[in-house]
Amino acid sequence: MPEKSLFEQLIDELKKIPGIGPKSAQRIAFYLIKQPQENVEHLANTILKVKKQTKYCSICYNLTEKDPCEICSNPDREQSIICVVADPKDVWAIEKTSHFEGVYHVLGGLISPLDGVFPEDLRIKELIERVEKGNIEEVMLATDSTPEGEATALYIARLLIPLKVKVTRLAHGLPAGTELDFADEITLIHAIDGRQELKINF
Ligand code: ZN
Repeated sequence: MPEKSLFEQLIDELKKIPGIGPKSAQRIAFYLIKQPQENVEHLANTILKVKKQTKYCSICYNLTEKDPCEICSNPDREQSIICVVADPKDVWAIEKTSHFEGVYHVLGGLISPLDGVFPEDLRIKELIERVEKGNIEEVMLATDSTPEGEATALYIARLLIPLKVKVTRLAHGLPAGTELDFADEITLIHAIDGRQELKINF
């Protein structure tokens, strides 16, 4: 098979990006070729820089350029309320509502044995350690309302409730099966306001 041209290779790379199909990949590739050299260099450098300088916050595991992140190091944020989410994109979704004043804990995914994701693959141990250190009044479980999101919330609740911390779950304003970052802002605000304490009989 003849080696692909650089242009085809670029399209192949672009197609790997979530949400970019073959048509969009082509369109972006043609757009880039038409741009002045310095614009493309600026874009390429920005991608390299963001990749090199973005790391995980050592407290909440959100993506950040400085450690601890802006949220963990902000004295105006309520450090005693932790909102637990699956991914950094969920932090974005909640931050966009400007309706949550606490801090976050990013798990790095959801429990999903079929996909080979087990509790020990997520940052659950780190969450428990944060709560055990004290000064945490509430842990708000804001995982998706999908089966994986519900299972993960329940798993974490069982570990946290014996630690005498208030554990809440987003209200059912979120339709079953909703991924957090696809919920609209109003729905998300209602889900946060209407969150309910989880009580589990052991
Ligand atoms: Zn942080």
